[in-house]
Amino acid sequence: MKTLILGAGYGGLAAATKLKPTPGLDVTLIDQNPYHVYDTRLHEAAAHNTNVTLPIEPLLANTGVKFQVASIDHVDLDAKAVHTKDGQQLSYDTLVIALGSITNFYKIPGLQEHASELKELSDAAEIYNFVQRAAKPDFKGNRDIIVGGAGLTGVELVTELAKRNEAISKETGLPKFNIYLVEAAPVILPIVEEALRAKTLDILRDYGIQVLTSHKLLGATETGVKVGTPEDGERTIDGGKVIWTGGIMAVDRVRGSKIEKGPAGRLLVDKTLRLPAYPDVFVLGDLALATNQDGKPVPTTAQHAGQEGRLMGENLMRLVRGENLMPYEPYTQGEFISLGGLLAVGWMQLPGNMKLNMSGGAAHIMKRASEWRWRASVGKPL
Ligand SMILES: Cc1cc2nc3c(=O)[nH]c(=O)nc-3n(C[C@H](O)[C@H](O)[C@H](O)COP(=O)(O)OP(=O)(O)OC[C@H]3O[C@@H](n4cnc5c(N)ncnc54)[C@H](O)[C@@H]3O)c2cc1C
Repeated sequence: MKTLILGAGYGGLAAATKLKPTPGLDVTLIDQNPYHVYDTRLHEAAAHNTNVTLPIEPLLANTGVKFQVASIDHVDLDAKAVHTKDGQQLSYDTLVIALGSITNFYKIPGLQEHASELKELSDAAEIYNFVQRAAKPDFKGNRDIIVGGAGLTGVELVTELAKRNEAISKETGLPKFNIYLVEAAPVILPIVEEALRAKTLDILRDYGIQVLTSHKLLGATETGVKVGTPEDGERTIDGGKVIWTGGIMAVDRVRGSKIEKGPAGRLLVDKTLRLPAYPDVFVLGDLALATNQDGKPVPTTAQHAGQEGRLMGENLMRLVRGENLMPYEPYTQGEFISLGGLLAVGWMQLPGNMKLNMSGGAAHIMKRASEWRWRASVGKPL
């Protein structure tokens, strides 16, 4: 069974590293990069140039999986063909698509042209390089940073940038630059409870971050952003760097006359993560619209992509042995948000549908522990 796994992110890498050499199963994992990126630590790369990559090939040593670096142009499900950007056409018996998501700019005027994103390593490098330039005493432009979107990524980014800001100011004697966090909703971090949100807000304010909730981002230019508030109408905020973390949508590289899409372009899959109209094709992670036990969409998170990937690996081996496939039963272990340095907030799922809220150093350790678990699960313990 000739099998291609497209994408070596949280979903695809989990699937590939779950595999064992199995008679009849011939698997190739394809990614545009020779390394896996820990997206969950990209904000650290943006602020401090931390290494957040893991070479892929060594992780496949005992799996029987081959690895190919190639950039996918598009997948044609009706023709059963994968087209790479360098002109190759690859065929398959079974296809697993785990190409993730891209930034959604929601057609806000000027945003895509003028804002950085935080989705890839190159985005982190762009932000890091701006801060490096702005840290020079002879820097002439505006040093202020405006981050749009106060979800998990935006909050983790501004707090880590605030840490860097403190260090730069101490090293150089320069005044700190301003950091703005702009959010259209009346609250930050909708994924956590009010108590943790309040704690997070206190920490953001202690850092000196200007949190502008109920501020809708209306447009971006070379020199900053335009925002609108229900009370005060429109105004501009000047900044040298605008970063948009306010939304994602599915990668748009899969074509097929019978594909069903849900919100944000995610591809509707059944309980075994299969495209209903294409029984040879499975989709994982941010690109897939799987549903939980209550019929709600599975969140676009690394932990769920990893769960799906591990199930997929198991199911590929079952498929080739002619066994029934296991259904995906999503569960959320908790959610931890890093708040710069050794600070974090979050919650952990306890038995009996109870939640344990945590903050400070303990939450930081939990956040790190989830990354260590991920590394261990793909065969690279610390
Ligand atoms: C900054 C940031 C912080 C986050 N923090 C958290 C967190 O703390 N906790 C959490 O649970 N989730 C977090 N997430 C979300 C999480 O990272 C995603 O939900 C997860 O990565 C989705 O996994 P995936 O396998 O679908 O896609 P990805 O992990 O994005 O993998 C997609 C893979 O496909 C490859 N690819 C894409 N396009 C092509 C192409 N055309 N050709 C070849 N290869 C291609 C990419 O190189 C990548 O390896 C964060 C995301 C970001 C961006």
